[in-house]
Amino acid sequence: MPFAQAPTGALQLKWELQDHGWARCHLANDFHQASLVVSYCTDALADLVAAAGGLYGQQRTTRFFFDAEPQELRWVLRAEDALIDVTIYEFPDVSVSLDLPDAAGTVIWQSAHSRRLFSHAVLNAAQTVFTEHGEAGYQAKWMLHPFPVALVQDLRRLHLRDDACGLSHDHAHPEADEGFPTSQGSRLLRDEGVIAQGPSEGPLGSGHTRPPGARVHRL
Ligand SMILES: [Zn+2]
Repeated sequence: MPFAQAPTGALQLKWELQDHGWARCHLANDFHQASLVVSYCTDALADLVAAAGGLYGQQRTTRFFFDAEPQELRWVLRAEDALIDVTIYEFPDVSVSLDLPDAAGTVIWQSAHSRRLFSHAVLNAAQTVFTEHGEAGYQAKWMLHPFPVALVQDLRRLHLRDDACGLSHDHAHPEADEGFPTSQGSRLLRDEGVIAQGPSEGPLGSGHTRPPGARVHRL
């Protein structure tokens, strides 16, 4: 089914940490699935959670990107009436594409969901990866960034307050006093997620290699 005809509905999101600062973000609905490569050159999960949280305010559109080295995978979330339109554009080279308009990219995902279902999916993905790895394990794999505790808690609060979500949150969103850490990550800034350093330029661990032409880019 073409993206343009994709109906609204549920969204499955899964965040899979790999080694050396890589992750995969899996998306699926009833008609499509996609698997996005994500590098730690941006704090990608934090950006996703923050963008979802941004949809509860006056902001109608939020954007962020995953750095797939070298591709840019640009997420655009648009709040339209009661729906969140999710479009992901791929650009071949993030070192030159950040200033390009969306239309210059290739649409690799488009779907629309109620804010309730979208935020629930984001929260569930974040919490599942946290449950699997824990705070220390998360940072051991993601290396440059801690688990975005504060952002997840903010989104959870907004989701529970405003979305009338009838889905289970027992597993998805444990309380802070049930092991959800609060000591770290309480001051996460989206901007600090953009740390694009080549392997020789910063305290990066072994194995995460960047293709030639490494660059520094900022939001
Ligand atoms: Zn929910």
